[in-house]
Amino acid sequence: MITKTNLIQTIEQHKDEVYALGQNLFAHPQLGYKEWDNRNILIDYFKSHGLTIDQTFAITGFSVTIGSGKPHIGLLAELDAIPVPGHPYANNADHAAHACGHSSQCAIMANALVHIHESGLLNEYPGSITLYFTPAEEYVDLPYRRQLIKDGQIKYISGKQNMIADHLFDACDVIIHCHAMGDSPYKYCVNTTMSGFIYKEFDFLGVESHAGAAPYLGKNALNMMALFLDAVGMLRETFREEDIVRFHGMCTNGGHSINSIPALATYCAYLRCFNWDKMNEINKKIDDAAIYCAKALGGECEIRTDNGYLPFHQDKRLSQVVYDNMLDLVEADEINTNEKSIASGDVGDLGCLKPTIQFGYNGFTGRIHGKDLCESDPYRIFIEPSRIVVTSLYDLITNVKRVEDITSHFKPTLSYEQYMDYLNDVNH
Ligand SMILES: [Zn+2]
Repeated sequence: MITKTNLIQTIEQHKDEVYALGQNLFAHPQLGYKEWDNRNILIDYFKSHGLTIDQTFAITGFSVTIGSGKPHIGLLAELDAIPVPGHPYANNADHAAHACGHSSQCAIMANALVHIHESGLLNEYPGSITLYFTPAEEYVDLPYRRQLIKDGQIKYISGKQNMIADHLFDACDVIIHCHAMGDSPYKYCVNTTMSGFIYKEFDFLGVESHAGAAPYLGKNALNMMALFLDAVGMLRETFREEDIVRFHGMCTNGGHSINSIPALATYCAYLRCFNWDKMNEINKKIDDAAIYCAKALGGECEIRTDNGYLPFHQDKRLSQVVYDNMLDLVEADEINTNEKSIASGDVGDLGCLKPTIQFGYNGFTGRIHGKDLCESDPYRIFIEPSRIVVTSLYDLITNVKRVEDITSHFKPTLSYEQYMDYLNDVNH
């Protein structure tokens, strides 16, 4: 008879193996749909424990399943890194670094799956667990991904969007994910609500001419963009606190030659908001500001609006399972519950369709997405979260009523068809 104590003991006894796995993944970062190194490291790890891939998807994505039948529990781990020039492990190709800590998710979930497998729990109880390694969570490197879409290799920008579209999660009853926390006095977080976002691209179009001899013949696109950013700053007083709005971006093109008036300036941005209806209203205001600021200086503005990610509302009942197991490790006041985070993730899309959670864990120093992010406390990063995942899986597998309670109370925000309509409606 397998107990939670047995599972915890074996995780504690095999600490060094998961530390080595985590370090190897952290040291080999790659951007979305290019995560071949982390994929190969993980496949080798599974092979050494007698497990093989059961599905591949979305270029670099893959899954490993143990057991069979119901309940079917999904686990998520994200493979991709983010561009952070100057991070000690940033790769030479495109500065990819695991500054969002995704490599640690992979090590935690792989470790948890292997320990459940080796314990024989799924020989004693019916049920299956699929661990999905999902590519391309960070919404970055867009020219490359748009080319992949053009080439027919993927249909959508993010990994989970492609996986949802391809029905990969249909068989799952519940889905558990975890993510590194940023700067926080808490050790864990559960049931955090996350903001959604839409992606914006503004091309300000002017006319080039000699910047010294004949600026009066030109129309300065960079000035149009500067005027627009001032206008957005003034619009901010119309944003309501309760909607928690963020509009942030970067200038990716501000002209071609210093001695010419810039004829093209491009500003790429996210518009984030907790209130999805309000988001469309604010989006319209920002578009108007861009169009009329361009016109004020004699130019035009072309605007591209793409789906980002939907707001994430976690399943409270499933969060409770994880929370109960956290309490074996820490005090209640060390867990941040029901936070409103202005971060976003494609896990938000999945949460509209399936009971899904993402708990946060810590043990890092430095800034999340910063070049100084490092894994400073391996026990807290790898062992404690592995224990939480394994003991939560134990509770769900050994008590199917708990799974049924979660699935029977879950109300999807969108049907599959509605979600696909949203995903295919590129311009809101
Ligand atoms: Zn992340």
